[in-house]
Amino acid sequence: MPQESSRQIWLNGKTPGKGRFVLYWMDRAQRAELNHALEAAVIIADRQDCPLLVVLRLGGEEPAITARQAAFMAEGLQELAATLDERGIAFRILPSAEEEAFAKLLDQAVAAVTDVGYLRYHRQRRDWLGENAPCPALAVDTDCVVPVEVASDKAEYAARTIRPKIHRQLERFLKPLEVRTPKNAFSGISLPEGIDPADVKAVAMAAGSGEPEPAGWIKGGYFEAAARLTRFLAHDLARYDEERSDPNAERVSHLSPYLRFGQISPVEIALKARAAKADAASFLEELIVRRELAANWCHYRGDYDRYDALPQWARSTLERHAEDARDPGYSAAEMEAAKTGDEAFNAAMRQMKATGYLHNHMRMYWAKQILRWASSPKYALATIVDLNNRYFLDGGDHNSFANNLWALGLHDRPFQENEVYGTVRPMTRSGLKRKFDVSAYIRGVE
Ligand SMILES: Cc1cc2nc3c(=O)[nH]c(=O)nc-3n(C[C@H](O)[C@H](O)[C@H](O)COP(=O)(O)OP(=O)(O)OC[C@H]3O[C@@H](n4cnc5c(N)ncnc54)[C@H](O)[C@@H]3O)c2cc1C
Repeated sequence: MPQESSRQIWLNGKTPGKGRFVLYWMDRAQRAELNHALEAAVIIADRQDCPLLVVLRLGGEEPAITARQAAFMAEGLQELAATLDERGIAFRILPSAEEEAFAKLLDQAVAAVTDVGYLRYHRQRRDWLGENAPCPALAVDTDCVVPVEVASDKAEYAARTIRPKIHRQLERFLKPLEVRTPKNAFSGISLPEGIDPADVKAVAMAAGSGEPEPAGWIKGGYFEAAARLTRFLAHDLARYDEERSDPNAERVSHLSPYLRFGQISPVEIALKARAAKADAASFLEELIVRRELAANWCHYRGDYDRYDALPQWARSTLERHAEDARDPGYSAAEMEAAKTGDEAFNAAMRQMKATGYLHNHMRMYWAKQILRWASSPKYALATIVDLNNRYFLDGGDHNSFANNLWALGLHDRPFQENEVYGTVRPMTRSGLKRKFDVSAYIRGVE
């Protein structure tokens, strides 16, 4: 299939120079499979009759990559290096701090390509590339099914407002992608040595995360993601809708860390889910509508992680209840230490710390209890964002920020008034009990 040019955004108006290769600065889409930015770079390299170099720069991400994430990411990078090598594409991992080495490579580029991430640091990197590349620079949106700027030109109010816009464009973008081997294999051009992707410790150090700490229960990389998807579609998709509020059933895909590091394309997941025998509507709603609403939020709101970015109604109601007694009230340290009077919360906190994972329903409960116990809504949000991004393997994603603010009313509507929450949707222990066996969940975490 040819690519949709609406995935592409030109970052400057420069004309091709006399370079020696096309440079793809890989940012969040760390994969060789169904990567529109990579395939666009191959096409440009073939047109310019030159080879392709892919560079990944590590360090300076905001929030910083954690030790657990570094181990997961490095597993993906090892595979990526091998796959690119088979296609005759050179690959280098450079620490962001080595600016000169990267600038020298950029000076030799005929054209530069990057992929679109939705956070502030991604945008800064793109802007920098547009300004500093001596050649044309192109950004390609490959991590949403419907590119974020095609789906909508503004921050959407809620899932109900973005859903029809995404659905209108879905058939145009939900397509396989033709994979080409470049005409010119990369050879005879000297490159900086870079970091060995097999050296997990060096990858983690460059990312600034210290000693890598593998999560243990999950392995990174495209092939693991694809295998996990196959198992999920065969065994769990049929019961996804019915059992998705039950953390004990675990009828979920566990694909979020792979999506977080761009190790698998949402287009590939969606195409395979649609082709599965079971009804995939609920799963596709989460994967496409909810996930792309989060991308829309971060892309259009530079203040996506700030309390002041909450809708007016949510801030007003939370402020009206700011003086309500927090009974009990806990500090961030007590909550992080899982030392509260609520065993369900404590179990969730322990699970998240031990594994970097929590089922969506427990994430909702966890964040809503922090809002209930923290001394102020601002303190609650700061605590939620900090713990989310320090512990979750899929933390530091656009999904993280949109969902952290969701706990305080973003993309939601007012509910009945309660203490502390005001009209922000509450979540109670009794509500949990109606959905699943909470005691079994707590026992399962021990
Ligand atoms: C307080 C809170 C914090 C969260 N923090 C994160 C986070 O840091 N990183 C993260 O990726 N997700 C986060 N989520 C969203 C969601 O909980 C996870 O994406 C999901 O649990 C991941 O598990 P899964 O891949 O098995 O999901 P599945 O149920 O298999 O869903 C498939 C995919 O759909 C997307 N998806 C599912 N639920 C949501 C949602 N509510 N919003 C947006 N996309 C969704 C994810 O990409 C997910 O991988 C958070 C939710 C809440 C309520």
